[in-house]
Amino acid sequence: MKFSTKITKALEFIIKILNTKKNSIQEKQVEIFVNKVDFHPFLQPIFNSSGDKMVGCEVLLRVKTDEGFTSPASYINFLECSHQMNYITSKLLKDVSDYFLAYVNDIPNKFYFSFNIYPEQLHSEEIIQELIIFSDKFKGKASLVLEIVERGTLQLNEETSNIMNTLIRKGIRFAIDDFGAGTSSLKYIEHIGFSTIKIDRELTQTSDNRLINNKTIEAIVTLSIPLGFTVTAEGVENELQLDLLKKAGVNAMQGYYLAKPMEMKKFVNLYLQYK
Ligand code: C2E
Ligand code: CA
Ligand code: CA
Repeated sequence: MKFSTKITKALEFIIKILNTKKNSIQEKQVEIFVNKVDFHPFLQPIFNSSGDKMVGCEVLLRVKTDEGFTSPASYINFLECSHQMNYITSKLLKDVSDYFLAYVNDIPNKFYFSFNIYPEQLHSEEIIQELIIFSDKFKGKASLVLEIVERGTLQLNEETSNIMNTLIRKGIRFAIDDFGAGTSSLKYIEHIGFSTIKIDRELTQTSDNRLINNKTIEAIVTLSIPLGFTVTAEGVENELQLDLLKKAGVNAMQGYYLAKPMEMKKFVNLYLQYK
């Protein structure tokens, strides 16, 4: 469907208005706009602690405009309030699985695809089905990780926990996203079901040749590694940061210094075909 930058601007404008009146959000209006927008997956590689071996990738949503691909970061909260997010996530899952099926034999050992999911989506049958289809398609070749982010309202109740356990039995893993950015993600560290902690990039910054939040990062690592968590640092933007995070015991690294999010075609050309 034809899409123009004007529509993105209009969408952002409407979202701003609707965000101020959350209770009166009209699902229909979001649907109309979502139908006009061209959503695409971008992939950002995730590396080992030395930054020299790719271990997985995060799938990030992009919107195609006349000016290229843009991040929906400024209105993602709004989309997450709508059931339309299930359509978007399903599309990302399908696009990635369709594209990578041709390259299953080129995917490195133990590789994972990591998708962003907000907790409500785990209650959607459509999403559960797509997740299981994705996971089955890549069985033995690559695994599926779900990055769960809390945007203020997450309550991991028993029902959510049961759904998570069903998916875990299917080989799907869960990551706590943006760890350290909010106020209450700490309580999930003991929550059965999570296997990865992604330290938010607010916490991984350096200044004066040191990690600004060194003690917090060391505390996260000390707490997490014995519990069997993998700890991934977000926002690695330079070599010093990589070295210091590695010394602090972080297991996996993601950030512009190592690789930016990119289209699937570029990802395959750079990281799969010449392996
Ligand atoms: P996130 O899950 O924390 O994703 C990482 C964000 O950090 C991405 O922004 C990525 O482009 C950016 N990033 C990666 N490395 C660096 C770095 O070294 N420096 C800096 N400054 N930034 C870096 P992006 O793609 O704009 O996405 C923003 C947020 O939107 C994501 O944050 C995630 O919460 C949300 N999001 C993206 N795709 C999806 C999706 O498919 N579903 C849902 N529910 N949320 C999504
Ligand atoms: Ca994420
Ligand atoms: Ca983050």
